[in-house]
Amino acid sequence: MKKEFTCIVCPMSCALTVEEKNGEIIVLGNGCKRGKEFGINEFTDPKRMVTTTVKVMGSHLKRLPVISTDELPLDHLFVYMHELYQVVLEAPVEKGQIIIENIGNSGVDIVASRSLKQIELKKENA
Ligand code: SF4
Repeated sequence: MKKEFTCIVCPMSCALTVEEKNGEIIVLGNGCKRGKEFGINEFTDPKRMVTTTVKVMGSHLKRLPVISTDELPLDHLFVYMHELYQVVLEAPVEKGQIIIENIGNSGVDIVASRSLKQIELKKENA
């Protein structure tokens, strides 16, 4: 089986062709050895850092940017996104705060990418 990928390790965006022959994974088109490693990983076990936003209450922003602490398997992405979609936080939130620990039993946490202060509620005039 032959697969084609675009290497995303650097801006050169080399077009990679990866195939398995006699138990060996062969990468063609890579401009450097980092591309070979990327091609092998994409072919065998593709992973990505997850960055998205989650709902937050009581702050001047309605969504909080979050990021995974490590790469997560691409084929389980919909499971992680489903879990993240259900999160509703209350401000304040500190940068680096764990939002979901061990998401999807992956061993990877989701943490806040920034801090968010709690907004002060205005007092109603009587
Ligand atoms: S193969 Fe090397 S040079 Fe080409 S995009 Fe990947 S990292 Fe960059």
